[in-house]
Amino acid sequence: MSGELSSGGDVNNLGAGETGGLVPVVAYARTSDDFRQRDGHGVRYQLRIIERTAHQYGCTVVAAYVDNGRSASKVGAARLGFDLLLADLGHGYTDSGHRIAGVVCVADDRLYRRAEDLARFFAALTSWPGRIYVDPQGVRDPYSQEGLLQAVRSLDVAVTETRVRSRRVSDWHWARAAEGVPHSGPRPFGWQEDRLTLHPEEAKLVEQAISDRIAGKAVRAIAADWCDLGVTGTRGGRPNAQTVTQIITAPRVCGYRANRGELLLIPETGQPVHGQWEPIVMPDQWHSVCATFSPGSLYLHRGSGAPRLTGQKRPAPRHLATGFLRCGARRHDGAMCLGALCAQKGRSKTSPYVYSCRSCGRCSISGPLADEALERLVFSEVRGVAKPPQLLRDRWRSGEMGLEEKRKVVASVVTRCIVRPGVKGSASWDHSRVEPLLERPGQAGWSHAEPTGP
Ligand SMILES: [Zn+2]
Repeated sequence: MSGELSSGGDVNNLGAGETGGLVPVVAYARTSDDFRQRDGHGVRYQLRIIERTAHQYGCTVVAAYVDNGRSASKVGAARLGFDLLLADLGHGYTDSGHRIAGVVCVADDRLYRRAEDLARFFAALTSWPGRIYVDPQGVRDPYSQEGLLQAVRSLDVAVTETRVRSRRVSDWHWARAAEGVPHSGPRPFGWQEDRLTLHPEEAKLVEQAISDRIAGKAVRAIAADWCDLGVTGTRGGRPNAQTVTQIITAPRVCGYRANRGELLLIPETGQPVHGQWEPIVMPDQWHSVCATFSPGSLYLHRGSGAPRLTGQKRPAPRHLATGFLRCGARRHDGAMCLGALCAQKGRSKTSPYVYSCRSCGRCSISGPLADEALERLVFSEVRGVAKPPQLLRDRWRSGEMGLEEKRKVVASVVTRCIVRPGVKGSASWDHSRVEPLLERPGQAGWSHAEPTGP
């Protein structure tokens, strides 16, 4: 997508042409005057997220409708982009002649924050058969009762503004990454505090280590050299083989940007996103040095949670439900504990591992039971749980899907589940103990943190 999207009510059409077997959808983006006003990137970031989302679900954006600095909650506030979107949905085509098979957005509340707008939007969307609604949570069927219910729920949520904001923030991080903005967090070894300018000594060490490693030097020897030189990590740790590996295989050394352990690509071209910081080596050197390690030890494999020179290693989750389960036991004051359930070794054959609450210790569930219950939730018709696309369901069921991908599918469907404490002495395999936690107005008090791992 290109072009200026600065004023309200823009329609940005791609040229009419082939959509290459992809579903032609139109995008809608909106900023209110209070949202991220300072840098004015809101719409552009939304459109980036929209492109990624469309791509993810086999769609292509044929036109974008934009309202900049327009509130959707004020009665009578004109939104030209929204009105144009509805008009074109009614016609069935964009004004460049593309058929419209759906709408993609970063979140429902961009489209409507008032019931009247929801009704208008749904009437227009479903005025033609076979359309879809897509957002980062997945694909919805707007003709089904469930699709409409979900929209109504989103409206409820928009009105009270609960989790939507935090999701927007996490997408916001992604969009910043796509712009090549450096990671926040501790300073990476090799760069100054601004995370843009090279740290002369450290950068030299990294560059030397990369060329030594490509020439065949043991990474343990490099780490030992660094120790001898008195090098410490950015948080004071002593270098070892693993931390040196992480440093020299991080995509940032050649200017590539990773996000959540994956190399970030420009959706349109598939080329890596270049960060705004000074690189230490060229991309081919980064590829060469990565090739000297087994994939399992690479920065990208270990993900962004991997340590920089110091800190505790955070291994990738080994169980499906890790990070998704919250404790449903009651505290003394009657409130739900909502502590994270973590996987631990179990004691029985049927439960070789269990998930237990770290906070109160009063809730524990058999690992295989919880994983199975979670899998059921993902494929069930549970109210409020969006179903993953058929393609993903088929892959899951055929057994060709790895744990990491399964966890991504789960994450696309449910954010958190509540686990009800089991009944002491009961040996029954009760899947209903795991329930999705839906965002409802007034359900405050649960964590907004992302699941650990990928
Ligand atoms: Zn608990």
